[in-house]
Amino acid sequence: SRLGRCAVTSNEPRPFVVGNWKMNLTEAAAAALARALVDRLPLDRIDVAIAPPFPCLRAVIDAVTGSPLAVAAQNMHWEPQGAFTGEVAAPLLSAMGVRYVIVGHSERRNLFGETDAIVCKKVGAARRHGLIPIICVGEHEGERDRGRTREIVAAQIRAALADPAPDPVLETVIAYEPVWAIGTGRTPVATEITAAHGAIRAELDLYFGAAGASIPILYGGSVTAATAAALLRAPGVNGALVGGASLDAGSFAAIAVAAAAC
Ligand code: PEP
Repeated sequence: SRLGRCAVTSNEPRPFVVGNWKMNLTEAAAAALARALVDRLPLDRIDVAIAPPFPCLRAVIDAVTGSPLAVAAQNMHWEPQGAFTGEVAAPLLSAMGVRYVIVGHSERRNLFGETDAIVCKKVGAARRHGLIPIICVGEHEGERDRGRTREIVAAQIRAALADPAPDPVLETVIAYEPVWAIGTGRTPVATEITAAHGAIRAELDLYFGAAGASIPILYGGSVTAATAAALLRAPGVNGALVGGASLDAGSFAAIAVAAAAC
């Protein structure tokens, strides 16, 4: 049947590109960048999400309303409400129209003490409250030098998925981001990326079974308009998580076009 064929062929992840704006831009500049992206991104061919700082979410959501461009938060707390001064809750984000949340970014892990256990709690909370977690994993340079990349990312994935969550369990995105490649201009070679993505894919197979094949695994770390095509062509890469280069509409659009071509 048509439905049957569709179910089989739709298992391949659609290319997905995420822009992490980090702690940059004013509300007005964020809205302007979002409007420029709605005009320039190949949104008919790939999925794209942008992650502005919290105070810019409303303006960015308003700017992308009516387009397929999705909005992500860069972080959230795992509790749904309460006495957690300065934190932001998942139900608040999903009620605003936020669709994704980045969890376990290496800056959160390294600068703000986000442990695997916290990542796990946030992944569970995101799913329970209708947000799709973008789970970031990646090795430090010393771990890479010791040949431990596959083991490190597999352990991070296992820990992040340790909380049994309600359906739909498949609403998950993974980003492989070597810590030493973030914001440094350095990138792994394609075979290293493919090996890390393979280790992650094996963990997803164990956890989700065959249905997990539809979960995108993004590469992140110094993706630019110049490097995107080669990085996205590495076997096993389903898209990109982009930091610095996502702040420029032309660069981010070029990366999205490269993703659409892969
Ligand atoms: C990131 O912050 O997720 C990232 C990959 O940053 P950059 O693209 O600047 O290396």
